[in-house]
Amino acid sequence: MLTDHRTAQFAALGEQLEEQYWLYTEELTILTERLRDAAGEDTVTMATIAGCRRMLADTARALRHLAEGRYGSCETCQDAIPIARLEILPQARFCTRCQRDHPN
Ligand SMILES: [Zn+2]
Repeated sequence: MLTDHRTAQFAALGEQLEEQYWLYTEELTILTERLRDAAGEDTVTMATIAGCRRMLADTARALRHLAEGRYGSCETCQDAIPIARLEILPQARFCTRCQRDHPN
């Protein structure tokens, strides 16, 4: 029963991830245009682009894991990541304990 409940919540998180994916893609397009207009001299935009790319990669990875049926497990200890954490950070790769060893 608990597993069914978790599966239902994963569907909602999947929608959140897809939405997030498109938002970051759009943002990346805008930022890339801004950087081109600044002729590559805008270090703030460059840093924002790097962060955006990382978010996009993490989101894409989470969507792939969801499709493969291994979403929501910590990549280090394989423990189930609590739903409360996934709701805040649906692209989370690690549980809170293991995250400490993987600073972003
Ligand atoms: Zn872990």
